[in-house]
Amino acid sequence: LTLLGLETSCDETAAAVVRRTDDGQITVLSSIIGTQFEQHAPFGGVVPEIAARAHVEAIDAIAAEAMRAAGIGFDALDGVAATAGPGLVGGVMVGLAFGKAVALARNVPLVAVNHLEGHAVSARLGADIPYPFLLLLVSGGHCQLLEVAGVGACTRLGTTIDDAAGEAFDKIAKSLGLPYPGGPALEKLAATGDPSKFELPRALLGRKDCDFSFSGLKTAAARQAEKITDETSRADLAAAVQAAIARQLSERTDRAMKLYRDSHPGQALRFVVAGGVAANGAVKAALRKNCDDNGFSFDAPPLAYCTDNAAMIALAGAERLALGLVDDLDAVARPRWPLDEASALSHPSSS
Ligand code: ATP
Ligand code: FE
Ligand code: MG
Repeated sequence: LTLLGLETSCDETAAAVVRRTDDGQITVLSSIIGTQFEQHAPFGGVVPEIAARAHVEAIDAIAAEAMRAAGIGFDALDGVAATAGPGLVGGVMVGLAFGKAVALARNVPLVAVNHLEGHAVSARLGADIPYPFLLLLVSGGHCQLLEVAGVGACTRLGTTIDDAAGEAFDKIAKSLGLPYPGGPALEKLAATGDPSKFELPRALLGRKDCDFSFSGLKTAAARQAEKITDETSRADLAAAVQAAIARQLSERTDRAMKLYRDSHPGQALRFVVAGGVAANGAVKAALRKNCDDNGFSFDAPPLAYCTDNAAMIALAGAERLALGLVDDLDAVARPRWPLDEASALSHPSSS
């Protein structure tokens, strides 16, 4: 199956062509990402109205480029997959409408993909990772531990009770005076810092569940950042923040691994981290250690597929299409859409 994937849920306009053979071999034929970085940078964050307009202006050219780079014509497509949520609804509508137009004009099925399901399958773009696996999804808007048994088959073990991990990176980066998007900038600054120079709070210590909380860390870090005057301390605080986020992710993942192991006796134990924060070296190193300690294999998406891209949407679409899970042309854009509700029918029960 060869699918065109479209991603417009946040501040990247992306299109990709992915091929999946019947035996599950996956090839990314093209993956084009247009960022709106420059349009949003002056505001220090994503402005929804600017994003929606920029998607409208970019989508034609980005999709055409993805097709050209893949070296195939529209008649070679078996389907089109578009992100239908969750995200900024104005942007989601742009990609979904474009996908419907392609589906209608070319008479191919439409798959309305949950963006988080795209992140959930993204590591499979780089390695053959069989289902089921334990997933830590750490992105700009989400921080969740999930059991992934396949597309449309995710069970949530825990989630954040306040901020997402990426959001924590972004907000703390901002209070350190770093440019948007903050995660990569903070990682760069942290590389020269000493994490032991600052004491930061540990959230939800001793709790038996797999939930997360980053708001206390965010407040504490902002208070420390205000007092800082020299560049060395800035790097030290960045390193301490990164270590604190990595430690919490690791502590909750350790708990989830033990639960997962108990509920999958005798089965292969696989762990995957995905989403933008999966690009972070310190986070990955901490999670690798979890895997070593608990007997899990470790996988993360190739760097290019950690943050938003359309290849992961095309792949989720291909896996759905292979199962016969397609959507009608009246599929709606859903600003909210929990991953464990990403069932066969992407029609809203509530949103
Ligand atoms: P969601 O998928 O939840 O809707 P999103 O699509 O905006 O949110 P992603 O594109 O998956 O999120 O990831 C973006 C987030 O990842 C941002 O918060 C960004 O700061 C963070 N991020 C990217 N690279 C790094 C890095 N190297 N270290 C830490 N955080 C990073
Ligand atoms: Fe995302
Ligand atoms: Mg993004």
